[in-house]
Amino acid sequence: MDKLEQKIRDEGRVLSDTVIKVDSFLNHQIDPVLMKQIGDEFANRFADAGVTKVLTLESSGIAPAQMTGLTLGVPAIFARKRKSLTLNDHLYSTTVHSFTKNQSNEISVSKDYLSSDDTVLILDDFLANGQAALGLMNIAQQAGASLAGVGIVIEKGFQDGGKLLREQGIRVESLAIIDSLADQKITFHKEGASV
Ligand code: 5GP
Repeated sequence: MDKLEQKIRDEGRVLSDTVIKVDSFLNHQIDPVLMKQIGDEFANRFADAGVTKVLTLESSGIAPAQMTGLTLGVPAIFARKRKSLTLNDHLYSTTVHSFTKNQSNEISVSKDYLSSDDTVLILDDFLANGQAALGLMNIAQQAGASLAGVGIVIEKGFQDGGKLLREQGIRVESLAIIDSLADQKITFHKEGASV
């Protein structure tokens, strides 16, 4: 997605050879116009997949998931990282190791919002080692839901997550794929090249 790649080039800050910060439009301040375009793009790519729910993880997945749900005309659910007083044991839960925070979180979704009648599109802001996506897939599996695929705003192609998911036959659609962040330089994957 050209607009997204341009935005990453213009505003992304490379923190190391493995981490890029995009706080100005995705992870802190949100660009709603770009989010709407991102939602439209995911909705278009998964238009024929029979999606009934978009599933993400709080907090950075919420904006693209909500916009995708808006265009598809289905609800967006975010897994919570903390059990709140109003979330009780009527939950699907699993543990996810966070790449950026290097800590494990239990994530949960209420059984009220996912069931075996659902076809789930999993969405997230970044794909690194695939732990967040695998955790969300585990939640969908506990519900007995079908999986339409995984939509990612920014995939880091030099980490293992994309390979791990695609090798399992999962449909992964990434709107931007970064092949390298070495030497403070952002190199994108060439469109059409294999991933
Ligand atoms: P994974 O679970 O695939 O290892 O990592 C994906 C999660 O880690 C995403 O939900 C995202 O929040 C975070 N993440 C991974 N890499 C980056 C990065 O380079 N920049 C930012 N801002 N977040 C990242």
